[in-house]
Amino acid sequence: MKPIQSALKSWMRTNENFKENYTKIKNEVLKDQEIREFLSLNPQLTKQEIDKSLIKLYEYKTQSKQCNQCQGFESCKNMLPGYSPVLHVENNEIRLSYEKCHSKIMHEKAQEQQKLIQSLHMPKDILQARLSDITNDETRIQAIAEILDFLDQAKTELPRKGLYLYGQFGVGKTYLLGALANELKNFNISSTLIYMPEFVRELKASFKDDSFNDKIDYFKKADVLMLDDIGAEMQSAWFRDEVLGSVLQYRMMERLPVFFTSNYDLDQLEFQLASTKSGVETVKAGRIIERIKQVSKEIKIEGHNRRL
Ligand code: ADP
Ligand code: MG
Repeated sequence: MKPIQSALKSWMRTNENFKENYTKIKNEVLKDQEIREFLSLNPQLTKQEIDKSLIKLYEYKTQSKQCNQCQGFESCKNMLPGYSPVLHVENNEIRLSYEKCHSKIMHEKAQEQQKLIQSLHMPKDILQARLSDITNDETRIQAIAEILDFLDQAKTELPRKGLYLYGQFGVGKTYLLGALANELKNFNISSTLIYMPEFVRELKASFKDDSFNDKIDYFKKADVLMLDDIGAEMQSAWFRDEVLGSVLQYRMMERLPVFFTSNYDLDQLEFQLASTKSGVETVKAGRIIERIKQVSKEIKIEGHNRRL
C-alpha cells in the first residue's frame, strides 16, 4: 500500500481544483496576522508540521476570537457557541483547543444572578427595571436617595429596615422595587418579590398541606422580602395574623428588611387591615402596622400615572 501522503499527492495531481483550493487556503492562512504572530513566536515549528496542521490553522482563522467578531453570546457564530479557539504548541506539534469566551462567562454569571431574584407573578418590565433609568427622575428623589443608601449599606451588611413606598396607582412604585432587586443581585443578595394578592392565594392553596410551613419559612428567611401592593389583597383575619403577622414578627426579631408598595399610607392601611369578615379588629391591625414600622421606613412616591 502506498503511503497516504504520496497517495494524496497523486490524487491532488489529478485534481487540479482541489490543489488550487488547497493553495488558496494555505496562502490565506499564512497571511493571517494572528497566525503569523503565532508562527513567529514558535520558530521551532517545521514546515512539515505547519502543512500537517493547516486544517487546524484554518479553523483557528475562521473562528471569532474572544468575541472579536460578535455582539454577544446569543449571536456567537463559532462552531462551539461561547467558546473561543486557542493555538498552542506541545512537543513541537500545533494544538488547537477551545476556552470559554468573555461573553459566555458574562452570560453564565447573569443567569446565576438572575436566580437571586425569586419572584412570583411579577411582570417582565419590572424584572428588567434598572435604577439608572430612574435616577434622573425628580419626583422620586427621596425614595431614590433612600434606595441608594440601602444599597450602600448592603455592601457591608444588610440594613434592618426596608422601605414602605406608598402613592397613587401607576407612579412607578413596583418599578422601583424591581430596580432595587436588580442592583442587589450584583452584591449576591437575593430578593423575593411577591404580589400580595398572589401571596394570599398561594398560601391559602397550600394551607394544611406539607408545603405550607416551608413556604412561610421561605418568606421569613429571604434576604430581602418585597411585598408588592399590600392592601390590595382580600382581607382575611387568618392571613393577616397567622401569615403576615408571623412573617413580619420573625423578620423584625431577626432584623431582616422588608420592602412594601401600597396605594395606602400606613394609617389607611391600618383601617384596611382592620376590616375583615370577622368584624373590625383595630388592635390586631395596629399590631401589624407596628411591625411594618419596625421593618421599613414610610416614604411617599409622587408623580404622574405612567400607565396612562
Ligand atoms: P405602581 O406600582 O406605582 O402602580 P408601576 O411600577 O407598575 O407603578 O409602574 C407603572 C408603569 O410605568 C409600568 O409599566 C412600569 O414599567 C413603568 N415605569 C415605572 N417607572 C418607570 C421608570 N422610571 N422608567 C420607565 N418606566 C417606568
Ligand atoms: Mg405596583
